[in-house]
Amino acid sequence: MTGSFLNAIGGFPVISGVLLVLLSALGIAFLYILLTSKQKAQEYAYSVNHDLEESKNRLTEAEKIGHFGSFIWDLQTQHHFWSDEMFVLHGIDRRMHRNTPTLEEFYSYVFAEDRERVKTEMMAALARTGEFEINYRVELPTRALRWLTMRAKALGAPGDRVHLVHSIHGSVHDVTKEKEIDKAKTEFVSLASHQLKTPLTSINWYAEMLLDGDVGPLNADQKKYIQEMYESNQRMVDLVNSLLNVSRIELGTFSVEPVPTNIIDMAQSVIKEQMPTLTGRKQVLTTHFADNIPLIPVDIKLFRMVLQNLLSNAIKYTPEGGHIEFEITMGVRKGTISIRVSDSGCGIPEHQKDRIFSKLFRADNVRAQNVDGTGLGLYIVKSIVDHSRGSISFTSEEGKGTTFFVTLPLDGMEKKDGIRKLS
Ligand code: ADP
Repeated sequence: MTGSFLNAIGGFPVISGVLLVLLSALGIAFLYILLTSKQKAQEYAYSVNHDLEESKNRLTEAEKIGHFGSFIWDLQTQHHFWSDEMFVLHGIDRRMHRNTPTLEEFYSYVFAEDRERVKTEMMAALARTGEFEINYRVELPTRALRWLTMRAKALGAPGDRVHLVHSIHGSVHDVTKEKEIDKAKTEFVSLASHQLKTPLTSINWYAEMLLDGDVGPLNADQKKYIQEMYESNQRMVDLVNSLLNVSRIELGTFSVEPVPTNIIDMAQSVIKEQMPTLTGRKQVLTTHFADNIPLIPVDIKLFRMVLQNLLSNAIKYTPEGGHIEFEITMGVRKGTISIRVSDSGCGIPEHQKDRIFSKLFRADNVRAQNVDGTGLGLYIVKSIVDHSRGSISFTSEEGKGTTFFVTLPLDGMEKKDGIRKLS
């Protein structure tokens, strides 16, 4: 009855009117939602941007205060990044560089004397993925030198199993102050050692004169005590000489005078010199010296120190009756010779192996045995080998023995002018 009435008075336009109102309301609501979400999205984007900007500013400030810069070299896309502080540290005006320096450009900022070494170290680091550290200097516009340490990671592409390096990420730190403090410390050690050397040398002379009976015969007890004094003093002279050598290495004041040398003759003479100790300890020495080793230009005094140290350590750290092997052959790598000194001695504890070439380091097992030593020998040996563009490594098992390997290029050492020779 009602339906027919509505129909009768034209119900259709009423319904469509209601529908229209409803649709408009929906449209307005939709529009409102659209507008507010856009506004929300804009607000969100703004706050993310703001946070990003704040983090960037905080990082820039931290880099400025901490004297370090951060960088990325993407070797694939060539999209590189240097933070502002990287430019400051390298003494470069950022405004003059629209593009971030490439790796090649970076080399040109490195101080000329360090450039080739830095290139070689970088090439070695880029051969495989992993962390590395490179130390170098830059010359500032004021001509002052700044010391920098780069700590970085060479990364491959994600999922790449070949370990090809795609990018380098890292930071560069200003270590000039640390270097200066280190230098002052080395200079102090050098000065103190010099002052100590004179009285120690005269004690040696007088002890020798007494032992030789220059001022009359000594009885057995007197001779024994003077002999002990002489030996203790000799150990002090050795320590002072090693300290002087270390300071000359660190200050870079030592000279290198390479002359063509028969390394085998040198090895034979070192063995002869140490034979009394070796036979005294009833040790057996086996040698294998190849007969095709050419003359190699080395500084005789310096390279002798390398052989002396390796052999005397093998003797010192091997118990009575132990075995020592000394071998010099052409190297596996073309253009090199290889030196191997093996012993059946106490070995190096696994947890201390990474410190063996550090200054003044002596492993726990040799300290416990009360064997004489300064912990300076291998540090000096490594510095000499590095200077000879060679390499030194070792394998060792505690209680079983140790083998040191030295590789020396046939080109030998590079001449270097200096105020002093190592003694
Ligand atoms: P030093 O022998 O005067 O202590 P080095 O610098 O020559 O100093 O050697 C550092 C340390 O390395 C030694 O104290 C010892 O702990 C360890 N070392 C060196 N050579 C050997 C070796 N052939 N066998 C076992 N340990 C060794």
